[in-house]
Amino acid sequence: MLYASVIVDISLAKLDKCFSYIIPEELRDRALPGASVVVPFGNRKLKGYIVAVTDQVDIDPSRLKPILELQQEALSSQGQLIALAEWMRQNYGATMNQALRTVLPSAKRQAPKMRKVVHAGAEAEELSDALALLLSRARHSLGKERLLRELLHQPDIPWDELTQRLSIPSSDIRDLEKKGLLTIEEVRSLRDPLGAVRTQDSHWELPELNEDQRQICEDFASRYDRGDHRPSLLFGVTGSGKTEVYMEMIHHVLEKGRQAIVLIPEIALTYQTVMRFYLRFGGKVSILNSRMSPGERYDQFLRAREGEVSVMVGPRSALFTPFTDLGLIIIDEEHESTYKSQQPPRYHARETGIQRARLSGASVVLGSATPSVGSYFHAMEGDYHLYRLKRRAGGGQLPKVHITDLRAELMAGNRSIIGRELQTAIKDRLDRGEQTMLFLNRRGMAGFVSCRACGFVIKCPHCDVSLSLHRDGRLHCHYCGYQTEYKGICPSCGSKYIGTMRAGTEKVQQTIQQMYPAARILRMDADTTKSRHGHQKLLEAFANHEADILIGTQMIVKGHDFPDVTLMGVLAADLSLNVSDYRSAERTFDLLLQACGRAGRGDRPGDAYIQTYQPGHYAITSAADSDYTGFYEQEIAYRKLMKYPPFGHLLQIEITSSKEERAVAMGQFLKEKMIAVDRELTVFGPQAAGIARIDDVYRQILLVRDGSYQRLVAAKDTADVALREGSAPSGADVWFDFDPMDGF
Ligand code: ADP
Ligand code: ZN
Ligand code: ZN
Repeated sequence: MLYASVIVDISLAKLDKCFSYIIPEELRDRALPGASVVVPFGNRKLKGYIVAVTDQVDIDPSRLKPILELQQEALSSQGQLIALAEWMRQNYGATMNQALRTVLPSAKRQAPKMRKVVHAGAEAEELSDALALLLSRARHSLGKERLLRELLHQPDIPWDELTQRLSIPSSDIRDLEKKGLLTIEEVRSLRDPLGAVRTQDSHWELPELNEDQRQICEDFASRYDRGDHRPSLLFGVTGSGKTEVYMEMIHHVLEKGRQAIVLIPEIALTYQTVMRFYLRFGGKVSILNSRMSPGERYDQFLRAREGEVSVMVGPRSALFTPFTDLGLIIIDEEHESTYKSQQPPRYHARETGIQRARLSGASVVLGSATPSVGSYFHAMEGDYHLYRLKRRAGGGQLPKVHITDLRAELMAGNRSIIGRELQTAIKDRLDRGEQTMLFLNRRGMAGFVSCRACGFVIKCPHCDVSLSLHRDGRLHCHYCGYQTEYKGICPSCGSKYIGTMRAGTEKVQQTIQQMYPAARILRMDADTTKSRHGHQKLLEAFANHEADILIGTQMIVKGHDFPDVTLMGVLAADLSLNVSDYRSAERTFDLLLQACGRAGRGDRPGDAYIQTYQPGHYAITSAADSDYTGFYEQEIAYRKLMKYPPFGHLLQIEITSSKEERAVAMGQFLKEKMIAVDRELTVFGPQAAGIARIDDVYRQILLVRDGSYQRLVAAKDTADVALREGSAPSGADVWFDFDPMDGF
């Protein structure tokens, strides 16, 4: 017997209330998640959606009633989102409630705000007569005069505009209403985040597409019209005009009466970007961002569902915009790690977007200047269609990139964090009145151990990732649990200049200030940007040339253009290169390429210096040469050899508890259960996480590795079932993370 879990009320306070029904034999084939059904409910009949299909129920099946009707047609847009939630629950691990809350808008249904609109209640002639009569009186009401003139000019006027901008007393409006000259209507008011933009006239001109851009758009359009919805990867260097291409593709889809979603990392969702979309599509565009209140977000979803807007631009969560006929999803900067959610279900917007597109017959376009290794691999395999833009659309040259070998600096007696060449270059910029950015790559300061004399990094003999120095004074592998003693001497050259790299932006600022006492320095990191607009203020100050040097972490690398910056120094490229994460080379390559791209945005050519202990590492040499494919070839060979994604997958199970032994017991329990069902499964751990305790909550990790994603999903399902058994240890929480983006 098959059962359906049905949700009958999508007013979201009750999302966790699903009811079980029997699926009648004749409906079996069509009773899938997302299908719209009619079910008996008390003595009523209610409409609902199937959320999940199971062959078991927790309650006595003889008490269940059957589904009465099932809608024949394709899934509605609401149904598609519910089907998507079920897919996410299944593939990323979460409760159905968590999955539904992720895809359906705003948890609390809020009473929509109302606003009043005044309409002319009579023909123009009658209004003119009324106005003439009014003017014939010596001392008439000026408010009424203005009101009548306004209504003659424009028959529908927002109440607020009359009372505020035109200062018409509300009593005057009410008086004319009584005389039947106007009517007052209350309409639901949906907030429009672009309202402020709309009132400004703009002088921006849209460029005409160049030959490369045009060809891509034409090919896309013809594939689209043929119904070829295979995902596309648009690989184009920064400034090659990808955004213009997206807009042309969207235009094509809108012409078919369908809608489009554009995902952009929040940090890149600037006024300029929004403005470009607005100029092209006007009032059809809306945006989402994390600063909006739940009510504002909810309004945008309503506007989309009701067809008021047809292009939604926003970060990850914009993927769930309830368009009725979604035709295109664009994911810009598809390699960004912010596309992975950190809340359960820990979904990735790329795969989830592809799944959503499949459900609604839409296309997906991924764009990047440094595609993720996984996406480029799919393009090479032919799963994705590859489009390339090789040149900058608006001209401009790449900076000259120099690599500084920090081992040689140490040998030459320079122990400072700034190499000699970079020192000279900074001085040179100060003399010329140009600006410098110094990037301290602190990503994942997790304590890998390296030698400053020879550059050697201590790695796991089994996994080829760096070992981490834990508080227990031993070196640990985060992938297989291997441990070894730490001796404090370089195993390669015997030097005692070995240890974890620690450098902070504050320290760098002091050093630089000592070297260049007259320089004006700004520092941007988590500390200096704590206040609400701290981030923005610092950037503005630097843009206004209130400082000569900007020192910062990742924050300064992405998305900001400063035309006076002609020098970029990457102080320690190794910090991200040796994080104990199989993706560390990919991240480093991406960061370095972006960092170097910051120098020389204006008309003056720029220089970039990459300082490193591993000057020969392919992530560094390829970034210096802006050679993506060179990097990719080395990286994919490594992934293949080590069976890392895309050749294999990881399921990270995080177990948290206020009692360490409970977390360990839960880890052991789940491991046994998973192995009992799948004897050959590779499970590492439980082991303490790199940060073993946060806020007095202990963290244990189980890692499951396999070539097949489905096998990991099955292991997750086994663990999920085991968690609900009576024998499961209590007092610990379990979080699933497939192909995690951050180490632990
Ligand atoms: P990307 O998204 O690839 O970084 P953009 O679409 O932002 O690139 O384009 C970079 C700059 O080049 C923008 O200022 C844009 O207006 C300009 N641009 C894009 N396409 C053209 C074109 N065909 N002709 C002239 N300028 C263009
Ligand atoms: Zn050494
Ligand atoms: Zn290992």
